[in-house]
Amino acid sequence: AAPLLVLEELSVGYRLRDGRSRTVVNSVGLVVRPGEFVALVGESGSGKSTTAMAALGLLPANARVESGTVSLGGQDVTTIGDRGLAALRGPFVGYVPQDPGLSLNPVKRVGVQLVDAVRLHRRLPRSQARERALDKLELAGLSDVERIFDQYPHELSGGMRQRVLIAIALCNDPQLIIADEPTSALDVTVQKQILDHLGRLQTELGLGLLFVTHDLGVATERSDTIVVMNSGRIVEVGDPESLLLQPQSGYTKDLMDHAATLRPARLKPRVGAPMRLPQSAGLDDVIVEVSSVSKTYGDREVLNDVSLTLRRGTTHCIVGESGAGKSTLSRIV
Ligand code: ATP
Ligand code: MG
Repeated sequence: AAPLLVLEELSVGYRLRDGRSRTVVNSVGLVVRPGEFVALVGESGSGKSTTAMAALGLLPANARVESGTVSLGGQDVTTIGDRGLAALRGPFVGYVPQDPGLSLNPVKRVGVQLVDAVRLHRRLPRSQARERALDKLELAGLSDVERIFDQYPHELSGGMRQRVLIAIALCNDPQLIIADEPTSALDVTVQKQILDHLGRLQTELGLGLLFVTHDLGVATERSDTIVVMNSGRIVEVGDPESLLLQPQSGYTKDLMDHAATLRPARLKPRVGAPMRLPQSAGLDDVIVEVSSVSKTYGDREVLNDVSLTLRRGTTHCIVGESGAGKSTLSRIV
């Protein structure tokens, strides 16, 4: 199938007050295909949001595409014009913005905002637009949607507001969702629920998803492809398994060490890895045995003769200060 989004050699700069310009996205290439979950990962300031905004044709006034192309549904975003873009946003691409607090109009009821979004692209009578809006609120994982429809944003929790934004992004049945760190303002449990929901929707509806996050752990959870960005450039692209097992860039390794929730669960055992699954695992059997493992990154010794046995039904905590090797050990496990 044709890709939904293609960025080629994209460079974007911001004009500064003194008239000079600073390039913050540098020759970036990226593709999102139908049904593909692409995570764009990098630390704060690496240029993720600028890239996402360029993909949506929503760059701020002081930003300029310096070179390269952005193709959304086969159309060149940089030349298509405002009307062409407006026609794509909604029915083709839905955007889930970063901050649920700032992105909804505080003086309009939730339902009105959804119905407006629907009627921007569909000539539907209000009653039908309302039905569609209620459906999308449910699709975004909200219950008691008739009540929420009549409420103001401030009457909802942060998590509920985030789900309303997801409903708005979905309300014209897009093929592609661009979500910019949609949950960073929420507490971890709510974050996780919403991410899981977004991931399920992506799979069930067969959407393309470009998901922006600074957390590599979040990125590996569901993505098909991880794109790692540092200082405006792409430093590594790969599927989660190979990227975690054999990161090519030192920057990716740094991100791995700082990921809040890196879950090695997706990693399949590799031949030759220092790990052994017992032939017949009974209830109190050993599940994983790590024996005398040492590991170095370059000339830095990270693990030194470590052994660990995990038994079924037991909990192990690995405790140590930053840089002690906890993440490396858990990845090996
Ligand atoms: P975060 O994780 O903090 O959201 P990000 O990866 O999304 O970061 P961007 O917001 O794309 O990063 O910013 C990239 C660089 O561009 C940063 O150095 C930032 O200071 C700069 N920048 C962003 N927006 C503007 C703007 N409107 N005017 C000038 N510079 C900007
Ligand atoms: Mg950002």
